[in-house]
Amino acid sequence: MSQRIPFIAGNWKMHKTAGEAARTARDLVARLGAVSDVEVMIAPPYTALDAVGREVKGSPVKLGAQNLFWADEGAYTGEVAGGMLIDLGCRFVLIGHSERRQYFGETDETVHRRIAAALRHGLAPVMCIGETEAQREAGETFSVLDKQIADGLKDQISDGLETLVLAYEPVWAIGTGKTATTDQAQEAHRFIRGKLAKQFGESLAERTRILYGGSVKPENIAELMAMPDIDGALVGGASLKAETFANIVRYRAP
Ligand code: PEP
Repeated sequence: MSQRIPFIAGNWKMHKTAGEAARTARDLVARLGAVSDVEVMIAPPYTALDAVGREVKGSPVKLGAQNLFWADEGAYTGEVAGGMLIDLGCRFVLIGHSERRQYFGETDETVHRRIAAALRHGLAPVMCIGETEAQREAGETFSVLDKQIADGLKDQISDGLETLVLAYEPVWAIGTGKTATTDQAQEAHRFIRGKLAKQFGESLAERTRILYGGSVKPENIAELMAMPDIDGALVGGASLKAETFANIVRYRAP
């Protein structure tokens, strides 16, 4: 039986003003009560971190950011540093989301720099990886995942990666309504855990949580979570409503 605590994370992307985000967070906290068998995180836009942080303070819901810059401060207009996120109560930070890779020039090298910055600041990185549809069709899924992990986590040692969370998000399943089958997801998660074992040793690989992301909803979460190497979910669209997200968090409930 795995010792890994299930982790359900919500990515609110570029949705909600600070006021709207605070109201959703308040509703979520009320719906979840004292949930303790699942770790829960929400990542609102930067502009709502302060307001949401106040709502979730003292509750089981943890605060995450959607990105960070690798320098600690300086002349980097428009960027946000790890220390600023810690100051607002963030515990987690998404890194390398496919939308960052697709639209904002994120590469494995910039992922690597951001991971190092997150760890330096005591933020737990949620590192997103996954293949495009064309890569899957070309039979490149495993080589893509292998490279994203090798390059994104290069120069790290297992001791420094205690807080790392990985999110396997096949790009073709994000926001499309298409979900990987449980077997496709499990196969990729098994591969990722094996890769972590090769790069950092069995012990870290067994402890690291690997989330699945891509059109997760209340109707498919339980079957995904039943797979041995799926330890949680990174949820986009279905995390925007407190009721739906709470139903995903409570996936075991009848
Ligand atoms: C995501 O943004 O990480 C994601 C998985 O989105 P969705 O759940 O909407 O597919």
